[in-house]
Amino acid sequence: MLPEKLANCRRDPDLSRDFQVFVKPAGPACNLGCIYCYYSGKAAPPQNGAPLLMDDGLLEAIIVQQIAASTDEIIRFSWHGGEPTLAGLDFYRRAIDLQRRHKPAGRIIRNGLQTNGVLLDDSWGRFLAEAEFSIGLSLDGPAGFHDRLRRFRDGRPTHDRALRGFEILKRHGVATDILCVVHADNAGHPSDVYGFFKSIGAAFISFLPLVERRADAARGVSPESVSAAVWGSFLRAVFDEWLAGDIGRIKVQIFEEAARTAFGQEHSLCLFRPVCGGSPVVERNGDFYPCDHFVRPELRLGNIRETSLADLIDSPAQQSFGLAKAGTLPRICRACPVLAMCNGECPKNRFLMSSEGEAGLNYLCAGYKDFFSHCRPFVEAVASEWRRGNPQGPASALESAGRASAKSGSPRIPGRRNKKS
Ligand code: SF4
Ligand code: SF4
Repeated sequence: MLPEKLANCRRDPDLSRDFQVFVKPAGPACNLGCIYCYYSGKAAPPQNGAPLLMDDGLLEAIIVQQIAASTDEIIRFSWHGGEPTLAGLDFYRRAIDLQRRHKPAGRIIRNGLQTNGVLLDDSWGRFLAEAEFSIGLSLDGPAGFHDRLRRFRDGRPTHDRALRGFEILKRHGVATDILCVVHADNAGHPSDVYGFFKSIGAAFISFLPLVERRADAARGVSPESVSAAVWGSFLRAVFDEWLAGDIGRIKVQIFEEAARTAFGQEHSLCLFRPVCGGSPVVERNGDFYPCDHFVRPELRLGNIRETSLADLIDSPAQQSFGLAKAGTLPRICRACPVLAMCNGECPKNRFLMSSEGEAGLNYLCAGYKDFFSHCRPFVEAVASEWRRGNPQGPASALESAGRASAKSGSPRIPGRRNKKS
């Protein structure tokens, strides 16, 4: 039973709060044993004695508190893991019932779920379509690349099952974003990876670079991690192919982020924002952490059974976590020509020494500098055409932005508002 002040919290009409909570109904539990998983075993110490799945009381608490904390017209729920489908279909049916019961008039609720796709079947497909979920599905390209690192715990490959999950989602008309981890194996094959996604009809793709810090390894990272140079050339190659034939047809998250900069808009993805901290985690027992990549006992900032979600998001500890991203930028970043596009990316990857001997340079710096410099002339041409009132030429390439601009009077790149992990 929640204290009354937490059970009945109300939205403050004067506040603007921009956040996306990663709710972990099954904690770090997962049915796969992917080699690069960063969440396996996370949050274990605080989970002692807690049930394996989020209980119904806490489910209702997170829904009530997230509605209260949200200041946008659209209230967004993000279900993550581990593997969140392990919570079972009935868990999400109850979640939707509770959302409907507590939804204030005039507000809209949207749900996103990040999955490996293995447990999806037609019952899931029907439910996810009816409840209008957006899905992030992990797929690292063709089977040969995907199955190198994404396997069941007993070593069996998972590509067939993940692809079956994708087909189910497609058949039921569920909006699905492919999340592709770019690692040492697939990074050298941009055309094969991107071509595969096109061949299965993917409309939304996010590429996530694999960087696993290993201080004692020769490169300072795991052998599976992508190198900065190859990450940059991977993005360049996919960008060129996308520009040549897929613009307006396929959305690639990092390209949208690059375009947002040229249009003077804030990044939607935490990685490229100057300040982060808007993507905290609520674990299956209600524990609150500042970010999916910083779930550590010493960073447990509280529990939503004791402190409201809004207070935790607004807490000095959470705020300073986010501000540290800008505060710790090395000089080389502050003078960088593509700073607005990159902002030093994620602090978890900032473990190199700059050429000036300053700590905190991003491991992927060379790749980002290469890619953002490569795409900048195009996205700036698009923005400049737009500012001149000419939505033809390169502007037609970002046609969705143009259409939105024509209606609203201000350009808007319709990026999906999500952190991806
Ligand atoms: S490209 Fe490199 S120098 Fe420029 S902002 Fe990004 S990490 Fe910093
Ligand atoms: S930029 Fe990195 S540390 Fe900041 S919220 Fe995003 S993933 Fe977490």
